[in-house]
Amino acid sequence: MSLRRHPAAPDIAGLTHGIRAGERAIIARAITLIESRRSDHQKAARHLVQDLLPFTGKAVRVGITGAPGVGKSSAIDALGTLLTGRGHKVAVLAIDPSSARSGGSILADKTRMPRLAGDANAFVRPSPSSGTLGGVAAKTRESMLILEAAGHDCVLVETMGTGQAETVVADMTDFFLVLMLPGAGDELQGLKKGVVELADMIAINKADGDNLSRATAAAAEYRAALHILTPRSPLWSPPVLTCSALTGDGISRLWETVLDHRERMIKSGDFAARRREQQVKWMWAMLEERMFARLRSDPVLKTKLPKLEAAVADGRMSAAVAVEEIAAALRI
Ligand code: GDP
Repeated sequence: MSLRRHPAAPDIAGLTHGIRAGERAIIARAITLIESRRSDHQKAARHLVQDLLPFTGKAVRVGITGAPGVGKSSAIDALGTLLTGRGHKVAVLAIDPSSARSGGSILADKTRMPRLAGDANAFVRPSPSSGTLGGVAAKTRESMLILEAAGHDCVLVETMGTGQAETVVADMTDFFLVLMLPGAGDELQGLKKGVVELADMIAINKADGDNLSRATAAAAEYRAALHILTPRSPLWSPPVLTCSALTGDGISRLWETVLDHRERMIKSGDFAARRREQQVKWMWAMLEERMFARLRSDPVLKTKLPKLEAAVADGRMSAAVAVEEIAAALRI
């Protein structure tokens, strides 16, 4: 059963059984299998996910983003605890592209979510810590499927306010929550158009104590700012709420809004359409990732690519001719 004891042949049936039974150690082992770079492990992981596919897709998938310090982990801890208190099983995943470089992870420190870390009905997994954004995303998506098959009906995927990773998280979730701080003036400046276009809701966190009135004012300003943008769906104008991860105020409103959105999207058929679209997009993203991995590791191209790149940079070779040479080497 253990990957370590039988590294060559993980027991897929055993893993499937353990995951379906919600056994934490087995779930962790399955995710380790998914994250492994070994090709035999990757093959086993593919079989595992395929076997579990009929038991996936039922969870409410929520992406959460915001700048460092905005209170993401505190909000996830508060929301997750509220949900497990209501009988839900909560999975927390993360996509942190910077961890690929630093080797660290935004979720590595379990003290960031102290209540959830000790909650039997919650499963907190840090961001996969190596590889490209595409590779990290693929592993997180598959981990999400494993956790759904294990009965987690709420999946929260955290990412930092750093551009591309947000698109990736929005593409694997049903609802995208952007957390902001009170102090509207500067924040409004930093309201990146791309992030706002992805947002299904903005929540001004830290709406407590001395910050309360500033948070309320910030919410009003964001509402006005959002008003002039075209919403992603004609059925949904992203609301702006206030909350406090510290006191818990407004946290249940966040979840009610997620459910309201879900109900409307299911009724209109947008929900099913979006999931279908996402699945196909994942396929292409994985294929792209794999083709680039092949390209990067090709022994002939390894020496050739820098030369081609230099020739294109110097204007000695046209981009089209360089691509032709690369394609010929790859026989595509
Ligand atoms: P993250 O980097 O976005 O995950 O932010 P954290 O959850 O680690 O929070 C950063 C800091 O803000 C910590 O010191 C938290 O205790 C504090 N914090 C988080 N949420 C709230 C809140 O709602 N109100 C107040 N007053 N402080 C908060």
